[in-house]
Amino acid sequence: MKNYWLVKQEPSSYAWSDLLADGETEWTGVRNYTARNNLRRMREGDEVLFYHSGEEKAVIGIAKVVRGAYPDSTATEGDWSAVDLAPTKSLRRQVTLREIKSAPRLKNIPLIRQSRLSVAARDFIVISLHDVAPANRDLADKIISELVRSGVRVCSLLVVPDYHHQGLATKDRAFVSWLRDLESEGYEIVIHGYFHERPRRPDETLRDKFLTRLYTHNEGEFYDLDYEEALQRITNARDEFRASGLTPRGFVAPAWLLGEEGERAARDADLEYTTRLRTVRDLRSGEEFPARSIVYSVRSNWRRAVSRAWNAALFQFLENNAFLRLSIHPPDYSHPIIWGQILRFIDMMNGTRTPTTYREWIAEQRLMVDRET
Ligand SMILES: [Zn+2]
Repeated sequence: MKNYWLVKQEPSSYAWSDLLADGETEWTGVRNYTARNNLRRMREGDEVLFYHSGEEKAVIGIAKVVRGAYPDSTATEGDWSAVDLAPTKSLRRQVTLREIKSAPRLKNIPLIRQSRLSVAARDFIVISLHDVAPANRDLADKIISELVRSGVRVCSLLVVPDYHHQGLATKDRAFVSWLRDLESEGYEIVIHGYFHERPRRPDETLRDKFLTRLYTHNEGEFYDLDYEEALQRITNARDEFRASGLTPRGFVAPAWLLGEEGERAARDADLEYTTRLRTVRDLRSGEEFPARSIVYSVRSNWRRAVSRAWNAALFQFLENNAFLRLSIHPPDYSHPIIWGQILRFIDMMNGTRTPTTYREWIAEQRLMVDRET
């Protein structure tokens, strides 16, 4: 099947007219992992919408891929790819992003902000690894390596600053340098609660008890923290991470239980987004994106069986969405029946979906909005 792509280009650096004059060009210079992976998914014959950024902000012409990915000869180091593009036709009338998005077939083509040559595909997946802490670093590392072997080279790592009061993660130098290395490879560090566990309260309602104890096994730390306490914990986490050379942009509450106060605190602590089981929210614009995550419950045999059946159905249901989320908890890895299904899902998405991080995904959504207005 033919795919559609959108390349965004500053006309001052390489315009549509340059492509027409050249007749064909080597699309080199991409130095962004997401864009590179997209290049590698391009097949001869795929159509490419050529978008002029800057003043024009419109699709000017349609090109096609005349040669699939090969090593980028302009790269002096690293593992980068290029493709060859040729013009197919100029558009008599320039087409705006708004119009592109209103075409059903094209509505999910995103843009990537990059000054030189860059490519964007349509469908994304964010895989998040939850509850990362010094105590499970080896396990987390194994999971990350297996994901890499399955073609997933970036994910969002949800790091707990002081997991169950076991000690500050940022005091563990080996752990911090491991995170920093991952961050430099494109992985994202996300603040995931502070202690992760929820303090008991004397005045809990039955619903509170159900949600926080049974459903989440007492891990709903931010379920009902008041604003001051939430702000304190989030700010401490942010500052500890930053002082360690990490750059957290998002906050995700343990068990995704985030009250209104907690959300306000995350926003006031200057964090850019949060996620819940069914949504991702841009804390700056307030915009909420529906996107249900696949997640497993592995604490007992029956939960594992139910999780597996439920997620098989959920995956089919979500498969055609432009944006997919898959949340992994370290214990998932220890249950072959669960881990096997996760790898199968990833395998099924290979070649059709680009792995990214929440941070990158949010940045892209903002860009779509910017360009439209
Ligand atoms: Zn968690």
